[in-house]
Amino acid sequence: MNIILFGPPGVGKGTQGANLSKEFGIVHLAMGDLLRSAVAEKTDLGLKAKSFMDAGELVTDDLVIGLIEERIVADDAKNGFLLDGFPRNVAQAIALNEMLSKHSLSLDHVVFMDASKKALLERLTGRLTCSACGFGFHRHYSPPKIAGQCDQCASPLVQRADDTEKVISHRLEVYAEQTAPLLDFYGNEDMFCKVNAEAGMGEVYASLLVAVKG
Ligand code: AMP
Repeated sequence: MNIILFGPPGVGKGTQGANLSKEFGIVHLAMGDLLRSAVAEKTDLGLKAKSFMDAGELVTDDLVIGLIEERIVADDAKNGFLLDGFPRNVAQAIALNEMLSKHSLSLDHVVFMDASKKALLERLTGRLTCSACGFGFHRHYSPPKIAGQCDQCASPLVQRADDTEKVISHRLEVYAEQTAPLLDFYGNEDMFCKVNAEAGMGEVYASLLVAVKG
């Protein structure tokens, strides 16, 4: 099964995408995570991507398109993939369609997760991530057992460099200008559906399951 999960920053694509991909035995391709690994490893791609990411801008299309094409045909994507954070504009969606037909692949579901700006801001400003394993927490909604420390591996928790208030509001603007037009691009397809992601995590997950099983 091949799925696209898309929606504004902070809507919960990462957490829900990880759970969904585990449930269906498909690979979770989170573009933001792939880019953050490349930045941490100081690869050529990472060095090129870093300044865009720190500023809350989209990394250039050529960099992310090449990266995703390698990953959808890799061995671990044989059962399928869940794309989280790609495509993020119409040019990327067109490039994705081209690469899917080139590799005789297709999409089964395009799921749009939506929440109000107020909820997104609350989620993003409270978000904490493990500096070692990447596990996510939230100061209020899912705090770690010991403040500042990961429950999974005891490493320090950090706030993402782009989760500051100034960069967050720019990321939301970039989303509205560049990513929201994907609603028109995919909105009339049978595989498209919309999920209200304003509820609690369990309830949103249940709606996502209905969306991809139904
Ligand atoms: P995320 O973790 O999905 O919020 O992504 C973090 C940052 O990575 C974004 O603000 C962009 O700078 C970059 N990024 C992630 N996905 C893409 C994409 N598909 N195209 C361009 N830049 C991206």
